[in-house]
Amino acid sequence: MKKVGITGGMGCGKSTVLNEFRKLGIPCFVSDIVAAGYYCDPAFLDDLRALLGDSVFVADGTADKRAVAARIFADRKLLEGLNALVHPRVMDDFDTFCSRHSGAPYVLFESAILFDYGFDRLMDSVVCVYLDLEERLARLSLRDSASRDQLMARIDHQLPAEEMMRRADYVILNYEGNPRARQVAFVDKSLRQ
Ligand code: ADP
Repeated sequence: MKKVGITGGMGCGKSTVLNEFRKLGIPCFVSDIVAAGYYCDPAFLDDLRALLGDSVFVADGTADKRAVAARIFADRKLLEGLNALVHPRVMDDFDTFCSRHSGAPYVLFESAILFDYGFDRLMDSVVCVYLDLEERLARLSLRDSASRDQLMARIDHQLPAEEMMRRADYVILNYEGNPRARQVAFVDKSLRQ
């Protein structure tokens, strides 16, 4: 099974580009969405409680994701602890996803932190969706109700988009007016070979 990573900085248009690949029948694994589902899994919640304690849980037993984010982004060790809980589960689920789609020409694995944690080494190729910082901030301020400083704080946790672009095998430039579908068709054709 050919595995293709797709990455890019927050707000560059990964989800939008992924939809173009879906139109071509390519199975897409979105790691953020899969990982968000773990917050409904009692075994994961037990591990989370062991890592972060009761303070990130609310009365009904669910975890408060904002409280989790506040703790882990303030303490590198806790961030690593959470990654150690999440990443192996994501890779197991991705393996299951691949076996379910064994007839596909390739599968896409979407992650903004693909290079940061070495997931790229598990992929046959990597596609980067690129947009410069100012353009991303402009789009994100329309999508999320967050200030420029809040957006920058999140962006600063990621590898610079230019570094992602440098390390990728394919780059899709997602500027308005650029022929996105044509770029995706070109990459898709190459990946099918
Ligand atoms: P990511 O998944 O990388 O965070 P999204 O796909 O959610 O990014 O795109 C960020 C925002 O930019 C969304 O509101 C999306 O609708 C918008 N967007 C994406 N691609 C384009 C484009 N080519 N032209 C204009 N707006 C776009």
